[in-house]
Formats: sequence, C-alpha cells, structure tokens
Amino acid sequence: MYSYCPIKSFILIIMAETKYIFTTGGVASSLGKGIISSSLAKLLIARGFRVAIQKLDPYINIDPGTLNPYEHGECFVTDDGAETDLDLGHYERFTNVRTSQANNVTTGRIYQAVIDKERRGDYLGETVQVIPHITDEIKHRIQLLGASGNYDFVITEIGGTVGDIESLPYIESVRQMKWELGNRCLVIHLTLVPYLASSGELKTKPTQHSVKMLLESGVQPDVIVCRTEKHLTQAIRNKIALFCNVNPSAVIESIDVETIYDVPLLMRDERLDQVVLEKMQVRIRKQPDLKSWEEFLHQLKNPVGEVNIGLVGKYVELRDAYKSITESFIHAGAENQFKVNLKMIHSESIDENSYKHLLQDLDGILVAPGFGERGIEGKITAIRYARENKVPFFGICLGMQCAVIEFGRNVLGYKDAHSTEMNPSTPYPVIDIMEEQKKINKKGGTMRLGSYPCTIKTGTKIWDVYHKTEIIERHRHRYEFNNAYLADYQKAGLKPVGINEQNDLVEIIELEDHPWFVAVQFHPEYKSTVASPHPLFVHFVKAAIQHQKAQSE
Ligand code: GLN
Repeated sequence: MYSYCPIKSFILIIMAETKYIFTTGGVASSLGKGIISSSLAKLLIARGFRVAIQKLDPYINIDPGTLNPYEHGECFVTDDGAETDLDLGHYERFTNVRTSQANNVTTGRIYQAVIDKERRGDYLGETVQVIPHITDEIKHRIQLLGASGNYDFVITEIGGTVGDIESLPYIESVRQMKWELGNRCLVIHLTLVPYLASSGELKTKPTQHSVKMLLESGVQPDVIVCRTEKHLTQAIRNKIALFCNVNPSAVIESIDVETIYDVPLLMRDERLDQVVLEKMQVRIRKQPDLKSWEEFLHQLKNPVGEVNIGLVGKYVELRDAYKSITESFIHAGAENQFKVNLKMIHSESIDENSYKHLLQDLDGILVAPGFGERGIEGKITAIRYARENKVPFFGICLGMQCAVIEFGRNVLGYKDAHSTEMNPSTPYPVIDIMEEQKKINKKGGTMRLGSYPCTIKTGTKIWDVYHKTEIIERHRHRYEFNNAYLADYQKAGLKPVGINEQNDLVEIIELEDHPWFVAVQFHPEYKSTVASPHPLFVHFVKAAIQHQKAQSE
C-alpha cells in the first residue's frame, strides 16, 4: 500500500485501491448529508488525496430533470449534460472537482439498466430479482468511479433516511460491499441529537433507534455524525458510542453554524478525516491545507459593505430552487469582500403598480432561469426598469430571453413580441425553438444540455469579465435568440457579444449605454466554486457596488 521513496526519504502514500465511504442519514431528512460528504471530501483533498463524491437517489424518476422545483429544488447540470440532484452542486462548490453523469444514480436508472439487460437476454433465463440483480447494478455504479483509477476515495451519499422502503436496496448493497471489501469500506451515519428545552437535555434515543434500524439491515456504522444545536458533552458521546458500538472518538459533533462553508473547519476540529483515515488504515503525514478556504471565510465574514441585489423568479419562496445562484452570490460577495443581501422577488408580484416600490432600493437585478408563462410579465417589467434606470442587470437563460423580449417590445416597437414557448402565435417570435429541438417530443434529458463553447467579442464588457475569447459554459434550454431579428437589435444597441459559432447561436448579449446590462443563454451559476468564484457573478456584484456608490454621491 505504501512505497518507500529513498531519494526524498519520506513515505509516499500510494493508495493501491480505491476506498469507499458511504454516508447514510437517520432520524430526519435535511440534516445535511451532502454538506458532511462535501466537507469530508474537502478535508481529504486538502491532505492530498483524490476524491469523488456520488449521490444515490431512491426515487424512480430517471433523473430530476423532469421534477418541478417544488418537488426537488434546483436541478444541477454537469459538464457532460447530466441533469442531477442539487447536492452535486455542493460537491463541486466545496471540492472544485467536476462531477458527471456517473456521480448521480437514481433507482429509476438502476431499474432501467436491469430491465434493458433482461430484455436483451443478458440474464440467460434467470429470474431477475432485487438481490442480486438490482444490488449488483447498484454496486457496479458505485464502483464505476473507483474503476477509473482516478480516485483514492469515492464518497457515496445514500439519499433518503434509513428505514425508508425505497432506500433498502442501497443499504443492502452497502452491506454487501462492506462484507466483500472489508476495511476498504466505511459507513458514516448522520443523525439528529435533538435538544429538549423543557428538560434542558440533549436526547440520544433517536440516534440509538436509527442505528438499530441500520443494524437490522446488517450495516454497522463506523462513524456517527450528530447534528445538534448544543455542544455534545463527553458523557453524551460516550453514551452514543456505547449504544451504537463505535469508539467515542468516532462520535462526531456537527453543531449548527452560521454558514455551510464553516463545516469543513468544524469537521477538521472534530477530526472526522483523521478518524476515517485511521479506521481505513491509511497512514497519513500531511495535515489538511485549508489556507485558501480560511481566507475565503475571512472575506465572507468581514465584509466592508453591503449591496442589495434582487433575484426575480417564480420559485423564490422555495429555499433550494435557485441554490447555485444563491451560492454563487456568496462566492462573489466574498471575492468583493461585500455582503450581498439577496432580495427574493416573486415575479408574479411585479406589475405596473408595484414595480417601483419593489425594485427602487436595489443595486442590481438578476432575472432567473425558468420555464413557462407564469410570472413572465413581471420579469419583463423588472428588466425594463433596470434598462431605463441604468441599474446593473444580469439575465440568466430565461432571464436573457426576457431581456430580448423586453427590448423588442419597448425599444424596437415589436408589439406583443414574445418567445414561442409562451406564445406560439406571437407576431414577433424574437425567441424561438432551436431547430434541433423541433423534432423532439420526449421530455426527459432532451434539452440542449451541458457544456458548449462560446466565442466572445473583444472590446466588450463581457471580455472584461472573462479576459479570453473562448469560453465553455453549461446549458439547459430549448429556445434561442431568433437571428432573423439580430440586425435590428444590433442597430438599436443590444449587441450579441458571445456566439456559439457552430450553430450561430447567440449566447451573450449586452446593452450599449448602460453601466452593466449583461445576459447569457447559459448557466454560469453551475460553475462557481469557493476556489473559483464565477467571474460573471463577481463582476455583476462589482457593478452593483459601483451603482450603490454612484447613487450615494
Ligand atoms: N425555458 C427556456 C428554454 O427552454 C429557458 C430555460 C432556462 O431558463 N433554463 O429555452
């Protein structure tokens, strides 16, 4: 496992085989398995290991692409065009490691693969069953990333809560892998230790019960991470250790914190990574290097000012619907050392009477991505306000399309201009369905998805943002700027400044005679990470800060 390097006379850690860490959850959902998994990955990477994180989702949808945000929050898109769970966004933001289709597996996808094999005759007449066929397929998907040879550790987060009927095949697969791979596998169980104010006590019973439930499935957790609002005493740690068959040092406290970005440091202080490495018998020398992470936190927590940015969308009441956008603003705020107060504005609440009141205190306005008719007029009204009042504006995907519609209607005089998504019989279809989308009638996974290149014009605002002419960004759309109207737009000052040259698709527009009016067909929010905040968000926040200064002068 280790090789001795005589020249430098130190022990090199060469991990012969990939190790597998599983994160399960008990007691309640939403305890933050994704954040714990991402934090552990961050710590292991900061020690020099190569780590991938994967999520197994128990629902029967093939992917969350067809789920509406009320059901599932944001749909995160990877470079290779997979529509995935939003936890993959956390993985990327924490680790700066790109994910792909292989990092998110759903029960639907597992069953589809098994049923396809059965239809092909691959099972040679066997009865196809949950064990071994479904569990074999699950184990295959878990080990796919490891088989690439690119990772020392694969962390697999099991969606749902232990005891759910639908996650049973996943837990059974973990049991089998533990049996087959021994200490190359480790299970971290995340539970809740509630505080009862009436008795002034932390309660361990729910944790004991959820561990029992896991044991009933044949899985002994190696580490227990306890989500709590009060510090765990040593007595509580000992009690959990005794009842759940783990060492007291493997009972890890995860106390509520100000920001999710505190969690890696918290886990370092609780020695989560150390405990994991010891349990898996990986000898370590290097301490995690978290200097740049700490610098980021310092910038985040010591802002020199605040700006107000409005996020206009139709799902603003849902905390997770615009997750990547809200996180991108945290990264961009820290980069500018400014606190971004994100005001969530429901697009349906914006109309001719309310817009001034809702928008007048904003230093910047972002119009969010989306689908369908609802709330569209409010978005267009907000854009008109930003354009006419020279408030920094940033449009993303549908936000860009709305900016084109607004300009068409109010500057070019195209009465009732629209996207054919909302009004198929508009006299001015300034946004129209892409040619390749016309023949598609299936909904799942059929949009223009994932990374595509874009060429940027020099001497533009957007060039100042990227400082290069060739960029690659991620996409998720079916409609595009209708080039039949391009000349009119250009003449009137709305310029195409980023183009996908392969199919002549307008990817970025910006407005002349405006301090910062930029809109993009792609989704920059999917690529912003702590280590590499997205320059579009960084520059938009900068423009908002400048707007604020100019207003107060
Ligand atoms: N509904 C628009 C389209 O499909 C925009 C999509 C989005 O904002 N992601 O093109």
